Amino acid sequence: MNNFNYLIVGAGIFGATVAERLASKGKKVLVIDRRPYVAGNIYTYTDKETGIEVHKYGSHIFHTEMDEVWDYITRFTEFNDYTHTVDTRHEGKLYPMPINLDTINLLYGANMDAAEAEKFVAEEARRDSEKYGINEPKNFEEKGISLVGEKLYEAFLKNYTEKQWNTAATNLSAEILSRIPVRFSHDNRYFMTAKHQGIPCEGYTKIVEKMLENENIEVKLETDFKEIKDEIPEEVKIIYCGQIDELLDYELGVLPWRSLRFEEEKTENGLGEAVINEADKEVPYTRAHDYKYYQIHQPEIVGQKMSFVSKEYPADFEKGGEAYYPVDNPESAKLYDKYVALVKERYPNLILGGRLGAYKYWDMDKAIKNALELVEKLAK
Ligand SMILES: Cc1cc2nc3c(=O)[nH]c(=O)nc-3n(C[C@H](O)[C@H](O)[C@H](O)COP(=O)(O)OP(=O)(O)OC[C@H]3O[C@@H](n4cnc5c(N)ncnc54)[C@H](O)[C@@H]3O)c2cc1C
Repeated sequence: MNNFNYLIVGAGIFGATVAERLASKGKKVLVIDRRPYVAGNIYTYTDKETGIEVHKYGSHIFHTEMDEVWDYITRFTEFNDYTHTVDTRHEGKLYPMPINLDTINLLYGANMDAAEAEKFVAEEARRDSEKYGINEPKNFEEKGISLVGEKLYEAFLKNYTEKQWNTAATNLSAEILSRIPVRFSHDNRYFMTAKHQGIPCEGYTKIVEKMLENENIEVKLETDFKEIKDEIPEEVKIIYCGQIDELLDYELGVLPWRSLRFEEEKTENGLGEAVINEADKEVPYTRAHDYKYYQIHQPEIVGQKMSFVSKEYPADFEKGGEAYYPVDNPESAKLYDKYVALVKERYPNLILGGRLGAYKYWDMDKAIKNALELVEKLAK
C-alpha cells in the first residue's frame, strides 16, 4: 500500500476516470472493487449464445451535451449511431414516450396539428385544475394534472411513477415534474437535446478496462474497502465511490434509496425495440429492455430471431442490497449532510465521489465531468 498515492474504492466510470487522469499525471493508483468485474453499474458482457451485449444493470445509452466529456470518452471507444426512442404501453397499445403529438392524437383518437394540440392540452389542464381546486400544485399528482390534464396524467405519468417510487403520487414532490412533459411535434427522440449520443461498439466494460490499462494503475477485484481499511497509510488519499451510509455502518440510519430487480430471459418473442415502458399498475415492472437493438453496428445481431429481454422491477432497498436511485427530499439531504460531517471527522484523508458517495442520480456524462473536475482540483 505504501507504493500508492491514491486508493480508489469503486471501479465504476467515476473511479476509472479519476484513476486514469491521476495515472496520466504520474500518480500511482490502486483501484479496488468488491465485484468480480470492473465498470460498476455500466457493466456489460457479451452473451455467448446470442452475441448480444447485455447491460447487466439496465439499459445504458451514452448521451451528452458536453464536448469535453465526449472528447474524453471517445479516446477509449468508438460509438455507433444509435438514437434512443421509447414506447410506453397503456391498455394494450403502444404510445411514443415522452408524450408528443402522436401520443396525444392516439390517446384521444384525434388528428390535431401542433397548434391545435397545444391549445387542447392547455384547456384540459385548465379545466381539470379547476375541477380539483389546484392553484399552487402541492405534490406530483397536482402538478401533473395542472400541466397536462387528468387523462394524459392518469394514462402515462401516475401509475408509472407510483410503481417506481412505491408510494402514492400525492406523497411525491411537485418538483419531480418541473416543466411540461409534452412535445407538440412528431419528434420521438428520447434525448432530444443530446449533442452526442450512441452505444459503445465494444460495450461499456471495454471502455473501463482500457481506462485502467496504465502502468501506474493496479486493480484489485473482489476486495471490499472494509477488508483493507486498517492497512491504509496516512499519506494515501482515498477516493471513495461507495455508499456513504454503508461506509459508517449505517450509524445514523439508512439513507433512503430505491432499488431494482431484473428478470432476464432469452426468447424469440422480443420487444421489437430497445425499451418499452409499462404505464399501467396491473403490470408489476416499469419497463423491459431488449438489448440487441442497441447493436445497430452489427445488423446480423439485430436481425437474428433471438432476443435477450430484461424486465425491470422497482424494489425497496435493503441494507447490503444494490442502491440505484437516491430518494431526493429535504430529510434525506439533511441526513446525507450529517454523514458527510461524520466522514470528515473519521476519515480526514477521504474524498467522497461517484453517484453513491455523492448521493445523487448522475448520468454517465455527469459522473465523468465530476471526475475530471475532481482531478483538476487535486492537481492544484
Ligand atoms: C437503471 C439505470 C439506468 C441508467 N441509464 C443510464 C443511461 O442510459 N445513460 C446514462 O448516461 N446514465 C445512466 N444511468 C446512470 C449510470 O449508471 C451512472 O452514471 C454510473 O453508473 C455512475 O458511475 P459511478 O462510478 O459513480 O458508480 P457505480 O457504477 O455504481 O460504481 C461504484 C462501484 O463502487 C463499488 N463499491 C461500492 N462500495 C464498495 C466498497 N465498500 N468496496 C469496494 N467497492 C465498492 C461498486 O461495486 C461499484 O462497482 C443509469 C442508472 C440506472 C440506475
